[in-house]
Amino acid sequence: MTATETLNLERPAPVRPAILSEKPTLVGLTREEMGKALVEVGVPERQVKMRVSQLWHWLYVRGVSDFDHMANISKDMREILRRHFTIARPEIVDEQISSDGTRKWLLRFPPRGAGRPVEIETVYIPEEGRGTLCISSQVGCTLTCSFCHTGTQKLVRNLTAEEILAQLLLARDRLGDFPDRDTPAGAIVPAEGRKVSNIVMMGMGEPLYNFENVKKALLIATDGDGLSLSKRRVTLSTSGIVPEIYRTGEEIGVMLAISLHAVRDDLRDMLVPINKKYPLKDLLDACRAYPSLSNARRITFEYVMLDGVNDTLEDAKELVRLLKGIPAKINLIPFNPWPGTNYQCSSWEQIEKFADFINQAGYASPIRTPRGRDILAACGQLKSESERMRKVDRMAFEAMMITNHGADD
Ligand code: SAH
Ligand code: SF4
Repeated sequence: MTATETLNLERPAPVRPAILSEKPTLVGLTREEMGKALVEVGVPERQVKMRVSQLWHWLYVRGVSDFDHMANISKDMREILRRHFTIARPEIVDEQISSDGTRKWLLRFPPRGAGRPVEIETVYIPEEGRGTLCISSQVGCTLTCSFCHTGTQKLVRNLTAEEILAQLLLARDRLGDFPDRDTPAGAIVPAEGRKVSNIVMMGMGEPLYNFENVKKALLIATDGDGLSLSKRRVTLSTSGIVPEIYRTGEEIGVMLAISLHAVRDDLRDMLVPINKKYPLKDLLDACRAYPSLSNARRITFEYVMLDGVNDTLEDAKELVRLLKGIPAKINLIPFNPWPGTNYQCSSWEQIEKFADFINQAGYASPIRTPRGRDILAACGQLKSESERMRKVDRMAFEAMMITNHGADD
């Protein structure tokens, strides 16, 4: 099966639109910000509320990325909007489809200020009855968890709210997950049965180190008059930035996942170094205080299985003791190796032993099947291929320079 056979050709991938555009975007603004932006370009005050709600519908219910498709907005108004703003999607540098149906997009965003264009990855994982989009929040990560490839990347910048949302909009485009063009303006689109039914902030970066932009993007993704994802179907994963865990509960209200990975402070200090600042006790206190937890709304604790490091039955026992009283799910993740790592994945036998112990203690503990390994889309592998490709590009570029100018120049 080749990529082109399964792609949705009705909505061709946009080619390099945003990268050329210097105009401000309307994507990722709150309603209030959008209203202000409209007033600044001369939209009459008395029209603003109506215009914002029209734009909100076209952008987030219909997934339009061209002002000309906004059928109930007059030509003159569309012209004003086009002159001042962009709603274009980011450039798709690469799109890969795994043999298991997982899709990975490499997206390029234009420079912000004096910076350079940046690339990030977004992964779609189809499963029985649901489809999950794994979204990145930063380019690289300032944290340095020792088993994570993203943590070794040098280039780091926060993604804007637009760039975070653009990953969802673009996935919906490419999966044919927005309504057809001929759906009447203002039509209600059912929230159920969509290809992207769930999102997880588990791509590149630490979402709670980019709190404001992540908050804005998630509040738009869960807005009932737009993209309409239920907050119960949105999960934010953090390595444990304690003050922002409290804020997430109060200000965003999505589901929480904690990258735990160790049950003793000395080991967690090594695996997840932010533990030195926010140790296990503080982290678990923040989890206990997370609002409206119940059996139906549990915190997910992620636990990467590292051979000989954190995978004994003693660890499993301590894990159960630590989580006592917290409505919790435990997600065991087989370690995904990357070039240069010193860790190895625990044996399958050991992972099963660990899982059995936890199951007997009453926890559902699914072992996360690695998805999309053939396209390097599994946890902790994001970006590795594109970095390698860049190296190859650079070599090709250097070879070209030598050919053009002579090796002695
Ligand atoms: N920064 C956030 C979210 C992104 S990482 C966080 O750390 O929670 C998503 C998950 O993948 C985290 O649980 C992370 O610890 C895990 N992970 C990172 N590298 C991995 C690897 N090589 N193999 C398996 N899981 C990994
Ligand atoms: Fe950053 Fe998460 Fe990787 Fe740690 S595991 S380096 S917090 S992306």
